[in-house]
Amino acid sequence: MDEILRYPHTAPAPAPAKTREAHSWHLPSLRLPQIRFSHATQRRSPLDVAIFLTVALSVTAAGISSHLYCPAYQVSVDGVDLGLVSDYHDVERAVERVEARAGSILGREYTLEQDVDFRFQLAQRDALMPVSGIETYLFDQIGEVMKTSVLTVNGKMLGAADNDAALTAMLDSIKAPFVTENTVSAEFVEPVVVTREYTATSALREISDMRSVLTSNSLERVDYFVKAGDTFSAIANNYGMTIAQLQELNPGVDINNLWVDQVLTISQAVPYLSVRTVDNVTYDGPVAFAVEEVPDDSIYQGFSKVLVPGVEGWATYNADVSYLNGAEQERIINSTQVHAEPITQVVAVGTKPRPKTMATGQFQWPLYGRINSTYGSRYIFGSYSFHTGLDIAGSYGAAITAADGGRVTFSGTGTGSYWSYGNYVVIDHENGLQTIYAHCSSLKVKTGDRVYKGQVIAGVGATGRATGNHCHFQVKLNGTTVNPYNYLP
Ligand SMILES: [Zn+2]
Repeated sequence: MDEILRYPHTAPAPAPAKTREAHSWHLPSLRLPQIRFSHATQRRSPLDVAIFLTVALSVTAAGISSHLYCPAYQVSVDGVDLGLVSDYHDVERAVERVEARAGSILGREYTLEQDVDFRFQLAQRDALMPVSGIETYLFDQIGEVMKTSVLTVNGKMLGAADNDAALTAMLDSIKAPFVTENTVSAEFVEPVVVTREYTATSALREISDMRSVLTSNSLERVDYFVKAGDTFSAIANNYGMTIAQLQELNPGVDINNLWVDQVLTISQAVPYLSVRTVDNVTYDGPVAFAVEEVPDDSIYQGFSKVLVPGVEGWATYNADVSYLNGAEQERIINSTQVHAEPITQVVAVGTKPRPKTMATGQFQWPLYGRINSTYGSRYIFGSYSFHTGLDIAGSYGAAITAADGGRVTFSGTGTGSYWSYGNYVVIDHENGLQTIYAHCSSLKVKTGDRVYKGQVIAGVGATGRATGNHCHFQVKLNGTTVNPYNYLP
């Protein structure tokens, strides 16, 4: 400040301006005040006279009015007066900051094209403007840079728009399909940020283009866990794939032999943006009943009997239900108003030890040997016929054992249409399953006997219609012949 105050009374100081190529720094202010002082009559306004007088006064009676007036510089940009600053160095530094900021936004060195001039004059202290105002003005003059609303998704800038309201409306329109009258919040799962900032004008994008990106799906590989009842073709169909496409994603998978919880790779459309909404809903619905178990030593272990059937209650619920892209994710019950209490179900659970001759529910092989003939259609004895069991080869007299516990309902030699079985045994396992053991050489049990799993019931032979020693093992479920392979371990 002291240095500047000296200027009107000393010879013109060398111009402090830097030589710049893109814009010129005019510092006539260092000379103009002198011209003004030496040619006072050229001054145009009474204010200038006042300034002159004030300067003169302030020099001769230093300090008296310096708290009101001070030396200042009128800053103009391309001939437009912006205001008064106390130190033109501040403006120079502002220009440098503007150029540095523009350079970092544009990704290259940037030089302001505007002419920035200073004119020295005295000014009232409260007429000085902050240099930040000049900085903002200069920044707004850069055509390649403008203040925009920048949309950033997942940390990646998607584009900029000059219409903040339109951008916000576009984002709301993506949430809109998932918003209901009960929706209390709707948020994007991915971080979506809109900021007002200076960007290169080349970053401007049509809002409709940004919307297209945000509402697009990408195909991604996702793990799928096989559920009971799934088939390869149904899974492919559910995810819009052909069987061939699903096979390509899962080389080495036997498409006819899936198991529960097997992991398959599927291709699934994953939305660019996911919308999580929470609805607050009130609705009526059932109340589940509790189950009380009572031990009962008159019932065999593994069995139970309902003593009092449970009855569901009825209630009004208030819940916060969260959805991901419209699919329910979680339901938090806030309050329950019960109108009808549920009735607890009472179940007697058996504790009585099971007799050895009671079926376990799990078969064992009645005989280990080569399978001569499987269940199903076959050509034998000169014609096609349906083979009702498994033919398990064995040496003459080898032990045949009961596949599970039960009661022998037949042990003897087949007659009439059962002639072909020869000597055979039928066991009723008293759980809907029966087993038949045919072509035996000897019978070790009598009709009416109870047998345990693994008990020897007969010897291997070739009685009836048989071409060699084997056991014809047949399984019936509720009277209908079924494939033994589905029951054997
Ligand atoms: Zn057979």
